[in-house]
Amino acid sequence: MGKTAESVWKNCLKFVKDNIQEQAFKTWFSPIQPIKLNENILTIQVPSKFFYEWLEEHYIKLLKIALQKELGKDAKLVYSIVMDQKYSGKDPYTVKIPSSNREKIQPQEIDAPLPIDSKKVKNPFIIPGLQKIKIDSQLNISNNFNNFIEGETNRLARSAGKAVAKRPGGTSFNPLFIYGGVGLGKTHLAHAIGLEAKENHPDKTVLYVSTEKFTQQFIDAVQSNNRNDFIHFYQMIDILIIDDVQFLSGKKATQEAFFHIFNHLHQKGNQIILTSDKPPVDIQEMEQRLISRFKWGLSADLQAPDYETRFAILKHKVEKDGIEIPEEVIDHIAKSIKSNVRELEGCLNSIIAQATLNKKEITLELTQKTLVNFINNTRKEISIDYIQRLVSDYFKIPYDQIQSKTRKRDVVQARQLAMYFAKKYTKASLSSIGSQIGNRDHATVLHACKTVKNLSETDKVFRGYVEDLNRKITVE
Ligand code: ADP
Ligand code: MG
Repeated sequence: MGKTAESVWKNCLKFVKDNIQEQAFKTWFSPIQPIKLNENILTIQVPSKFFYEWLEEHYIKLLKIALQKELGKDAKLVYSIVMDQKYSGKDPYTVKIPSSNREKIQPQEIDAPLPIDSKKVKNPFIIPGLQKIKIDSQLNISNNFNNFIEGETNRLARSAGKAVAKRPGGTSFNPLFIYGGVGLGKTHLAHAIGLEAKENHPDKTVLYVSTEKFTQQFIDAVQSNNRNDFIHFYQMIDILIIDDVQFLSGKKATQEAFFHIFNHLHQKGNQIILTSDKPPVDIQEMEQRLISRFKWGLSADLQAPDYETRFAILKHKVEKDGIEIPEEVIDHIAKSIKSNVRELEGCLNSIIAQATLNKKEITLELTQKTLVNFINNTRKEISIDYIQRLVSDYFKIPYDQIQSKTRKRDVVQARQLAMYFAKKYTKASLSSIGSQIGNRDHATVLHACKTVKNLSETDKVFRGYVEDLNRKITVE
């Protein structure tokens, strides 16, 4: 008797059952129905998109082995997913998605060069208990190039990223410095480059790290007397991606360590990819020699996406999630949210959530209502520069005066208020605030904050200023 979908699946299940916990088997495998066998392609029906994602994430290896035992090494799996159209009240329908066969990025093995005793290298990225050093790339497979929609405002950065992924260290884009405001896709693009580079060059070691993590590791390394190990570790990486380097601002010792790592990697022709929320020249309190190195390769910016790109991003996301939404709704969201992609996605999610919660269809009307709340609830990112401009505008004192050294009383007062609000509404350190407002030190900023507090308790007119400005900064 020939094989049928049922018989193949039954054997697969036997194998799976022997290899996982009973509860997991019941949860994830009992509800699956085999529906079709076409040569070496088995189609199984799963109850939801979530189910499919869970299987792909946790059981794809096991499924692959089971299937290959049954159908040979070219066996393929296709999911038929029942899409529950909760949002539109229509009948469920199914979509077919082939198994991506995408496995988690495997840890990379490298031989430690002589000066390092592998047992002593202390780094959280190393998986302990192994002879060779294994490094987890820290890449997130969902931030790939397929998901990164191309548009006018990211074209240069995207194609530079592609070029680097093709020939890491082999282009003149070294370092590749990607900059742009919040939520514009810097982190996504950085991961995409890493993933594609790894795919093109499996033998190369890729490592993604945020500047915050890098700094913390450095501090830990110094405290446990492993500063050199830390530097050596990073000097072994072929493709190093450091996200948000503006956070190195003001951190002298970490900058120094990074400088040694950078030079070593660059000399060896290894690829360095950096991201930042501003161009190299505008990063405050960064050593000049580092800033000049950031400019050695290519600096490419990401700007807020135009309407077409916003529309395409939303459409892609909706399709990926298998949700049905009328085009006019997508159009309306794309027209209303302009600042950044994170907000665009956030808005879409909140509309879907609203519809699910109230069991309503996603209509233009519902979208308009949700948008009003969404826009009112999303506070702007407040920058120190924005605060200075508001203060200058409020007191009719030119911006340059606030930035200057002048000790004129009204200017000093405006400057102190700007410092006070910068402390209140941004995450910047005292010294960073000082350097951005009239190039003062952290003690001056601290003094300004105390003065404003004291005065607003004792001086009614002054308290009026503080309240006015507070309203302007938070509302406008
Ligand atoms: P940043 O690091 O610049 O603050 P992220 O990379 O975290 O921004 O991007 C914010 C969100 O927007 C992420 O969910 C990301 O996947 C998405 N995103 C940004 N740019 C694009 C794009 N061009 N196509 C698709 N999604 C994007
Ligand atoms: Mg980011």
